[in-house]
Amino acid sequence: MDKIIHINIEDRLAVVQPGVIYAELDRALSPHGFFFPPDPASGSVCTLGGNVATNAGGIKGAKYGTTKDYVLTLEVVLPDGRILHTGSKCMKSVSGYDLTRLFVGSEGTIGVITKITFKINPKPPVTSTAMATFETLEDGGQAISEIMYSGIIPSALEFVDQQSLKAINENTDLGLPEVEIMLVAETDGYTKEETEFQMKTIMEIFRKNNATTVKHADESKGGAAALWAARKSAYGVMARINNNLIVEDLAVPMSKVPEMLRFISDLAKKYDLKIPTVGHAGDGNLHPVVSFDGTDPDQVGRVEDASEELFEKVIEMGGTLTGEHGIGLAKMPLCILSMMRSVWIS
Ligand SMILES: Cc1cc2nc3c(=O)[nH]c(=O)nc-3n(C[C@H](O)[C@H](O)[C@H](O)COP(=O)(O)OP(=O)(O)OC[C@H]3O[C@@H](n4cnc5c(N)ncnc54)[C@H](O)[C@@H]3O)c2cc1C
Repeated sequence: MDKIIHINIEDRLAVVQPGVIYAELDRALSPHGFFFPPDPASGSVCTLGGNVATNAGGIKGAKYGTTKDYVLTLEVVLPDGRILHTGSKCMKSVSGYDLTRLFVGSEGTIGVITKITFKINPKPPVTSTAMATFETLEDGGQAISEIMYSGIIPSALEFVDQQSLKAINENTDLGLPEVEIMLVAETDGYTKEETEFQMKTIMEIFRKNNATTVKHADESKGGAAALWAARKSAYGVMARINNNLIVEDLAVPMSKVPEMLRFISDLAKKYDLKIPTVGHAGDGNLHPVVSFDGTDPDQVGRVEDASEELFEKVIEMGGTLTGEHGIGLAKMPLCILSMMRSVWIS
């Protein structure tokens, strides 16, 4: 089940089997000038079936949405062995109930996906990248909000918190300023003028909100890759802090990102744990990474207590326990609690 069945540029769609690796589809689309936007960080290893089953997303979510925005049709084997076909290959269809959406994010609980038709996008050929640091979470948070209502939609707006910056400095020679928050923004488009116009607006917002450093990618100094180095090295560095780590996946309303980051920082102090946090500022999706020694029952107990407090806070803030990774077994009991607070009949 790992074949790309066909790519149809005229109709902007690709038909695939579920075992195709995300990056393979992206590679196959590239010669046509097309791409498949959800872009999960696990793209080089995860399958398209897994992407649909968990409604995967990534750093381009704020501009391009997540997997659910690209699934046109599904072939699904139901628990009793019957085969269900859902959706339409048309870009628009409101004919009947949207069963396709029911299966997207269902994590294998109601059927096995055996064929998928995805909508695909032309790839904007030009990007521009900038990085900014802020002494306070509040300034960084205000910059995030202002960017997202400025009318410019960045193709990526990522953050790295202070604990992550410290961990990166301890494990690399990047020598980053250990400020409360660092933001990395990317704009994309069809001309240099268009992407630079968007980036100029973003950098003005950075400066207006007291950024202590603002750097625009300079090809003579490593270009965009140099500015992305901190964000992209974060998971690798965190994996070296301790024996075990849990990558959490919360999402909160965008304006609440600073409050949530402050809460996580206080929680780490309260439970004497390391919880560096990175994430997608452009859609309020945070990845606190709880690192601990799983052979130490005391640490495991503290991780459990801290996680419970974290999830309670997320629900209280109107957030969600998972923005893109899915519920799985670990969050199943909490999911029921969360649903009881977000879905009801009155
Ligand atoms: C380092 C790392 C980074 C990650 N970054 C991201 C990220 O940026 N964004 C993101 O969204 N996720 C991320 N993830 C989580 C994960 O990679 C994604 O959720 C991915 O979409 C899962 O695909 P998979 O092939 O790994 O699925 P699996 O782990 O094999 O399965 C995931 C779920 O989907 C179900 N499933 C799989 N295939 C089918 C099918 N054909 N029919 C029905 N159900 C099926 C399984 O039963 C299971 O419940 C990351 C994970 C890691 C380890």
